[in-house]
Amino acid sequence: MRIILFGAPGSGKGTQAQALAEYYKIKRICVGDILRQEVNKGSSFGKMVKSYMEKGLLVPDELILDLIKKNIDNKDFILDGYPRNLSQAAQLEKLFSEKNIDTYVFVYLYVDRETIINRLSKRLICQDCGANYHLINMPPKKDKICDICKGNLIQRKDDTPKVIRKRWEVFLKESKPLLDFYKKKDKFIKIDAKAKKDIVFSRIIKLLDKCD
Ligand code: ADP
Ligand code: ZN
Repeated sequence: MRIILFGAPGSGKGTQAQALAEYYKIKRICVGDILRQEVNKGSSFGKMVKSYMEKGLLVPDELILDLIKKNIDNKDFILDGYPRNLSQAAQLEKLFSEKNIDTYVFVYLYVDRETIINRLSKRLICQDCGANYHLINMPPKKDKICDICKGNLIQRKDDTPKVIRKRWEVFLKESKPLLDFYKKKDKFIKIDAKAKKDIVFSRIIKLLDKCD
């Protein structure tokens, strides 16, 4: 199974990607997590991408493409956070054909704007494993500690009202047009992702199992 997981910031991509990767025993390629790790490490790559991320802008395509090339092989995977604009989609199609990858499912997690703002402004993430929590809807068992790896939970630097607004704008302008591109492909799934994590997850696998 190869999955491209798509949705606005806060649509639950990260949470679902983690669950799907476990369920199908496939590799999860989460671009945002990889970028944040590089920023935390203070690597030269991290230094290049930091200011884009803090402003809620997309990191330049060429930088992201290198990262994707390093992570994709012929094994199954779930892509979380890529592609995010039409040129990335074209670059990905090219990469797939070079690697003889001919089938994948595109999964669109649909959530309304209001829900997204609420989710992002109360979101916590694990500094170590990237797991997502929500102060009210999905709190950790122990305050500020990750259930999975016991890492510290923090608020992301880009989860402030101003940057959330910018990321939403970027999503509408640059990412949403991808829907028309992928709708034309044969395996396109749209999921109502406003419900709780487990419900959204079962909706996804019900449709994915039909695709296989
Ligand atoms: P979200 O989907 O909530 O915005 P992510 O963790 O997926 O969160 O991404 C965080 C940030 O990382 C983005 O705002 C952007 O700066 C950068 N980023 C992630 N994926 C890409 C991508 N495919 N192309 C360019 N920048 C990206
Ligand atoms: Zn963790």
